[in-house]
Amino acid sequence: QKELLLTLKGKENVTKSGQKINLYANIGNVSDLASVLENDAGGIGLFRSEFLYLEKDDFPTEEEQFAVYRKVAETMAGKKVIIRTLDIGADKQVDYFNLGKEDNPALGYRAIRICLTQPEIFKTQLRALFRASNYGNIAIMYPMIISVDEVRQIKEIVAEVKVELTAENIPFGEVEQGIMIETPAAAVMSDELAKEVDFFSIGTNDLTQYTLAIDRQNSKLDRFYNPHHEAVLRLIERVVKNAHAAGIWAGICGELGADTELTERFLQMGLDELSVSPGCILPVRKAIREAE
Ligand code: PEP
Ligand code: MG
Repeated sequence: QKELLLTLKGKENVTKSGQKINLYANIGNVSDLASVLENDAGGIGLFRSEFLYLEKDDFPTEEEQFAVYRKVAETMAGKKVIIRTLDIGADKQVDYFNLGKEDNPALGYRAIRICLTQPEIFKTQLRALFRASNYGNIAIMYPMIISVDEVRQIKEIVAEVKVELTAENIPFGEVEQGIMIETPAAAVMSDELAKEVDFFSIGTNDLTQYTLAIDRQNSKLDRFYNPHHEAVLRLIERVVKNAHAAGIWAGICGELGADTELTERFLQMGLDELSVSPGCILPVRKAIREAE
């Protein structure tokens, strides 16, 4: 089986009828880069930047972040690297953020909500990301979006960052910017959201949690947590349609993207990208190449 998969290295992600799809990798640390290359990913579809914050006792500086993003961009040598901004809160707690105790952390102060409330933290990360964009093909994506208004607020902050960098004579490249679709609100509003961004990446882990009202962390509920639920699949389908109607691409970066029982269905929906853990790249490639 392993050897069979290895024969798929260097092969295209193409169906029997010629439909192509991008197959990227999800990573949570720089140490994952070796397996990204090893498994022949076309790019990085989700770089969870949280580890930068989780592994320290204080906020990572702009320089520290820049060094990491630059390294990832350089290692991927021109292939797309989609870095997700800070997604702290809920299941990912960090002491120095002083987030406080919440009754419903999954519905609480987290991710983009922190970034829009404490823009200094957000700006440091954005500066590091834009600076690193000089060294490769970096794209940025924003987690836990629920509204067009949030996207506009993000754009204002990004514009301020660009003005600052320009004033300091610090160069930066063109950076594609997209959002995660991982709340039912974002999926339902995806027609409007698609006009505001360059791409969508569907976070099926949270989208399933919030659509089915089932805590993804609670193993007692495993038998009810069903990402194959038709409600989740219909939302995904709708998001892809709305993305394409607005001329942008849509991918999946949640675990469901690696579910080969659904590969054919995802292809039928017209998804442009699947981002999966490095070890799933070749199995998913196999499923794509076996699909009509
Ligand atoms: C998701 O929610 O599907 C996702 C990819 O993000 P995370 O698992 O990091 O919340
Ligand atoms: Mg998520």
